[in-house]
Amino acid sequence: GQVDLGRTVTHVVDSLRPMANELGVEIELSLPDHTVMISGDVDELIQVFSNLVENACKYGQTGKRVEVTVTDMDKEGPQVTIQDFGPGIAKEHVPRLTERFYRVDVETSRTKKGTGLGLAIVKHILTRHRARLIIRSTPGEGSTFCVKFNPADQGEAVASKEIYK
Ligand code: ATP
Ligand code: MG
Repeated sequence: GQVDLGRTVTHVVDSLRPMANELGVEIELSLPDHTVMISGDVDELIQVFSNLVENACKYGQTGKRVEVTVTDMDKEGPQVTIQDFGPGIAKEHVPRLTERFYRVDVETSRTKKGTGLGLAIVKHILTRHRARLIIRSTPGEGSTFCVKFNPADQGEAVASKEIYK
């Protein structure tokens, strides 16, 4: 179906705010000034963004702030970026994050509950959507998880967000 990316991401952020508050993390959301539509499965995409925003809050907690940005850079296609300012992830772990049950270290595994399946599911869903997950991380500075949709999968151009008011 047709999915309104801004609305979907807003829904996810709103539903995770109580959890973020408990961790002392502020989620900042930036949306483009027009509607961004893609073709996809809204429930699956909610799962994707929920896991990424939850991870950013949970593992990036010390950064106190998580930035979620929806952009629509014409040729490049729509993107959703989730950035945290936490401890980051050492280089050798990054390529393995989407493996099932992969969790970075004993310390985080002990203090933060999780199964290590979230990113494997994210990867699976994004592959079905012909979208890519780009992970960039600098230890000591934070991590960025960027979901890039295929420009060809953009939905019908929707003139402006007025029609959703
Ligand atoms: P689940 O999502 O199944 O509840 P999980 O969060 O451990 O469990 P994933 O979402 O697949 O599983 O993440 C895998 C591992 O990647 C995490 O355990 C954590 O070690 C690391 N990780 C994920 N996101 C971040 C992040 N933003 N900053 C630092 N480490 C991260
Ligand atoms: Mg997770």
